[in-house]
Amino acid sequence: THDIHIIGGGLAGSEAAWQLAQAGRKVRLSEMRGSGSMTPAHQSDRLAELVCSNSFRSDDAERNAVGLLHAEMRALGSLIFAQADKHQVPAGSALAVDRDGFADSVTAALAAHPNIEIVRERVDTLPSDGLAIVATGPLTAPALAESIGAATGKDSLAFFDAIAPIVHRDSIDMDVAWMQSRWDKVGPGGTGKDYINCPMTKDQYLAFHAGLLAGEKTEFREWENVPYFEGCMPIEVMAERGVDTLRYGPMKGVGLDQPSTGRWPYACVQLRQDNASATLWNMVGFQTKLKYADQVALFRTIPGLEKAEFARLGGLHRNTFIRSPELLDPTLRLKSRPNIRFAGQITGCEGYVESSAIGMLAARFAIAELSGTTLPTPPRATALGALLAHITGEAEVETYQPMNVNFGLFPPIEGRSKKADRKLMYTARARAAFAEWMPG
Ligand code: FAD
Repeated sequence: THDIHIIGGGLAGSEAAWQLAQAGRKVRLSEMRGSGSMTPAHQSDRLAELVCSNSFRSDDAERNAVGLLHAEMRALGSLIFAQADKHQVPAGSALAVDRDGFADSVTAALAAHPNIEIVRERVDTLPSDGLAIVATGPLTAPALAESIGAATGKDSLAFFDAIAPIVHRDSIDMDVAWMQSRWDKVGPGGTGKDYINCPMTKDQYLAFHAGLLAGEKTEFREWENVPYFEGCMPIEVMAERGVDTLRYGPMKGVGLDQPSTGRWPYACVQLRQDNASATLWNMVGFQTKLKYADQVALFRTIPGLEKAEFARLGGLHRNTFIRSPELLDPTLRLKSRPNIRFAGQITGCEGYVESSAIGMLAARFAIAELSGTTLPTPPRATALGALLAHITGEAEVETYQPMNVNFGLFPPIEGRSKKADRKLMYTARARAAFAEWMPG
């Protein structure tokens, strides 16, 4: 008998199991690796295996949003961070780990915990009763994915991401760019001025087109097999179809009146609001497999984006995730089946740290529920709160794509300040809010 069933022993499931067990709850942790099943990216049967890089990114809690998330998780007794700190290898200001030592000791800690039963089994259907946390990750096994799709509706479960870059609003030069919807169309809730438009002359467009063709692309892994759907084709693949394909597609200038000329531009890049507080804007139709450095260099040639700061760069991967902002309540419960919580990358966060963080929160909400109380959601000004709010409602549902933690998810700091100071202001505000919220 157990109090809660956790499905998936990756980063999120391991953290969740630890939190619940430490709170005295009995956990059944089901992990399919070690039972004859595998994902295409994992290589062992260890829990919390890192499938690619060995880095948890910046450990700077003063100036970096992911570093701040590290600090909040350590304060809440994170298993992932306790073991990462123990197995740290030198990596400048980043926290990198010896991956084997790290996964070995996470596995050993969970196996030794009297409140945790690790069961090597593949789960093929969502549990119909009893509390459960689904943390099966970006490579959730197909049968379970099907069961999730049946519970959420097919359109609410994605098997691939198609990520267009997202830009911090305050880094866009609005002396060059302007706000207008194409043909001044007023949609539901719109004003006719819903998009940010970045105009291009013919020469600028041709140079940009050449840059797309020349840019270095990331290769798909053999097993990824990502199909190019019309509507989310990589921008460089569209560029290969002909010099004018983009100019008649996502970069068309028709219906957009450039204030400085009073005419339609030769071509135009549009950005659409990506979160409720309007701090983040996504580049419409710009999903891409260009390497990150080439994306930054090329996209900064777009007029108005010369100083763009990117909250997220583009990408295309195999990645199972649900449309959380629509499907989950603020404590990560599936609204239609509230005995089930989701955690980790399947909720649409991105990265080892974020996945672990959402595992931790799912567990903490479940702990409160099991004892008949409620845990207030972490304040929006904290890294945990900003990430959770994005996943459970702040993000635009229609364009929902995986997201790393970043300052654009935090409530904006009003007034003008230098970029470096602003980061310190975000983290100072976060520390104060976290201290007030931190559960006893
Ligand atoms: P996982 O860590 O994948 O854990 C899910 C677990 O569930 C797995 O152990 C799996 O075996 C198990 N499982 C799946 N289905 C079932 C089932 N039906 N029954 C029982 N168990 C099941 N993030 C980074 O920060 N840095 C990177 O370099 C990085 N590289 C990545 C490379 C690849 C190829 C992929 C796919 C993702 C990468 N990520 C990276 C993204 C992501 O952060 C990691 O995938 C992270 O491990 C997600 O944590 P998770 O707990 O949500 O999922």
